[in-house]
Amino acid sequence: MTQHMPDDLWRDFPKTAQEFEARFATEEDCRAYWIEARWGGKPACAHCSSTRVWTIREGTTFECAECGHQTSLTSGTLLEKTRKPLKVWFRAVFEISARRNGISAMDLQRIMGFGSYKTAWSWLHKLRAAMVRPDREPLGPLVQIDEALVGGKGGPHKELVLVAAEANGRVRLAHVENNDDDTLKRYADGQIASDTHVVTDGHAGYNSKSLGKRPHDAVVQSKAERRENDAVQSCHWTISLLKRWLLGTHAGAVRDKHLQAYLDEFAFRHNRRKTNGVARIAARVIEGLVASQPLPGWVLVEKTIPCRWFDVAQPEPSR
Ligand SMILES: [Zn+2]
Repeated sequence: MTQHMPDDLWRDFPKTAQEFEARFATEEDCRAYWIEARWGGKPACAHCSSTRVWTIREGTTFECAECGHQTSLTSGTLLEKTRKPLKVWFRAVFEISARRNGISAMDLQRIMGFGSYKTAWSWLHKLRAAMVRPDREPLGPLVQIDEALVGGKGGPHKELVLVAAEANGRVRLAHVENNDDDTLKRYADGQIASDTHVVTDGHAGYNSKSLGKRPHDAVVQSKAERRENDAVQSCHWTISLLKRWLLGTHAGAVRDKHLQAYLDEFAFRHNRRKTNGVARIAARVIEGLVASQPLPGWVLVEKTIPCRWFDVAQPEPSR
């Protein structure tokens, strides 16, 4: 693994645009931070892990003194094969982190001065991929689960999204094809700790097959009861914020096949909504860029398969 980011590296990250300009004024500044985030300051050979390496190609690559293998700064990361300097990437990270609701591809294109919309779109897609935390803790100990129909450009909402929410806490969202027992079981096992108390609205798919031994309250409510005391209120709030975000920041232009990436960004931001300032978010995004595998090219063009959530390796619950 390439993840060596010290837990407190984010503390050192600039908090304002002015600080950012000063801290990352040159490509060397950005490289030093990247090397700290990726290798804890000591670049290592990707082939034999030796740290006896020397810098070649104007600092973009390390050659190993033991085996001769050449390791580039970005190989094996989300920024593999990028032709743009890290300085430009850092700028983009700062721009998307500084805005509470994120940014559309069109705005990023304008701010960064990119020649094409396509470039801005694929940059945002990589940055979104960096927002999926590989080691995320399962939700608990009290979680609501609900579902919503979202998306459907210019037409009725039609894509099914599962929402799990801790009360006033973190959320997880998954774009799924249906809500049968098997799908719900994979969702629950991947996202929700096994001893969690679950509350649902009583949909039949939430049962001992899908939820296992988790204690479960199925609360069937009338509209009036729900107005009074909504049993899955955290889910309903999340869904309404999600819909507003898709329509607002992204003008409803999210394609179904990319929906999961947007859900990941939404959850990333939502779960950090109490975090003050841009520094922590930006540092986490860079950590994600460093620690995640490159996206295959086909993800960055028009052929992404739907319901990507089930293709992302799900972590073992760590508690
Ligand atoms: Zn080597």
